[in-house]
Amino acid sequence: MTSGRKIMIVVMDGLGDRAVKSLGYRTPLQAANRPNLDWFAQNGASGCMDVIGPGIKPGSDTSHLAILGYDPEEVYTGRGPIEAAGVGLMGKQGDVAFRCNFATVNSSMDVLDRRAGRVRESDTSELIRALDGLEVNGFEAVVREGTEHRAVLLLHGEGLDPRVTDADPHEVAKVRRSEPLAPEARRTADAVNEFVRRSHQVLDAHPVNVRRRREGLPPANILLPRGGGRFPAITSFEERYGMTASCVAGVSLIRGICRICGLENINARGATGGVDTDMGSKALTALKELERKDLVLMNVKAADVVSHDGDLGRKLEVIERLDAMAGILRDGLPEGSVIAFCADHCTPVERMDHSGDPVPITIYSDDGLRDGTLSYDEVSCSRGSLGRIRGKDLMPILMDRADRSEKYGA
Ligand SMILES: [Zn+2]
Repeated sequence: MTSGRKIMIVVMDGLGDRAVKSLGYRTPLQAANRPNLDWFAQNGASGCMDVIGPGIKPGSDTSHLAILGYDPEEVYTGRGPIEAAGVGLMGKQGDVAFRCNFATVNSSMDVLDRRAGRVRESDTSELIRALDGLEVNGFEAVVREGTEHRAVLLLHGEGLDPRVTDADPHEVAKVRRSEPLAPEARRTADAVNEFVRRSHQVLDAHPVNVRRRREGLPPANILLPRGGGRFPAITSFEERYGMTASCVAGVSLIRGICRICGLENINARGATGGVDTDMGSKALTALKELERKDLVLMNVKAADVVSHDGDLGRKLEVIERLDAMAGILRDGLPEGSVIAFCADHCTPVERMDHSGDPVPITIYSDDGLRDGTLSYDEVSCSRGSLGRIRGKDLMPILMDRADRSEKYGA
């Protein structure tokens, strides 16, 4: 069903860095062994990319929106809908979604454990079934499980308003009442409070929790919503670009973002959002998916995870694994395709958090200019022919490189 040249975007989450003294003021990317990434730089065109804007420190959610060409200001309505989409729950426009935690409370509603002893999915799936479909204040509550103690609540009905405060106290304290931040949000706040009350009522007496208490485990006896947001009105990726697209990512946040934009989420065997993810399997899955779709976006989270841990040694190791993954992509890339290697933001390993530094980008296709860049790293790429672009420039550039752009003017 598809025709035209294929596009692959490889997002190496949190890859970019700063000069590290112990590496002789090189970045981890400069210091690591990366022959395959270098091959793409040597045979492609490079630059650096301010994913949102110069000096703006992106989250992985807003950055992926920008990379896909969407304006985060318009589409980013909070974490709730993204997490919901990440577990496969797509609301209708106007629905309001929240992220939730299973927690342990005592009879006076003090939170004793915000994660109910990191309760496992084997227990939560049954608890979720007891809550899904409840009616609260005239709204339907749709509840789905996330990983471990996480879940998602979606309220469906007329007159919802996401401007309410969290019921989750975000610390070991009393459960909060959700309060409206605007008069129109009163009914929604009441519904959240009613849901929290009912969740406690249903869960506290549930056989799963009776058993957990008997085993000396903290009962998962309440569900605490936070981060409410309305499902955004969004033009799907296919409608917007005339291309079918998939996403291969392990982290639910990225899966959610891509799902909201209309990309299909594809699972790769052995691939997760963690450090030990099977990158080779991810690459092979992405290549296979590219036979079926026009565009595939891959996200590999590992470099971000080890950077947040401040673990330089592991960052170097992760970069070399990313490079091996690039080797698999190099071998398997269908002829004529266009591939971009980039990061969604920098996570300097000594800072242990994201930064607003631009990320290195290389775009390769067999008919693309070789701009003389020798190596895929922050410094070399910044001297490349792409210059300094923004995240929102990426899709137009890739579309044009794939001969899919429309003429502006005569
Ligand atoms: Zn991060």
